[in-house]
Amino acid sequence: MAEAAPGIESHKSIDYRVWDHGPQPSGFTVTDNGADGGLEVSGTCPACHGWTVTPWPYGAVGSKGVLGSLLGRGAPAPTRPAGRRTVYCECGHLHPNRPETAWDYGCGAFWTVELPS
Ligand SMILES: [Zn+2]
Ligand SMILES: [Zn+2]
Repeated sequence: MAEAAPGIESHKSIDYRVWDHGPQPSGFTVTDNGADGGLEVSGTCPACHGWTVTPWPYGAVGSKGVLGSLLGRGAPAPTRPAGRRTVYCECGHLHPNRPETAWDYGCGAFWTVELPS
């Protein structure tokens, strides 16, 4: 009956720290929700072990941009991001010593994930 998010029990309340964890070849799932939903990168943060989901919008956002108007009428085909992208921890926990200027909702760790093309 309990609906615990995966990995939430092993979350570590480590101090906030901007920390490059490099490429993560496995353990991350990339979900493609189409041009409206965008991509979603989910997995367990290598630093605090929290469950992190990073939305990656594309399509709707790009078609409204300056590039869209430069290309003339009609929405341009949405470009799905591919290749190696940087993902920040978004575990949603308030880590100790998190600076007020921090914009992410995680422990400060970041790493790269290979998006399928
Ligand atoms: Zn965390
Ligand atoms: Zn984290």
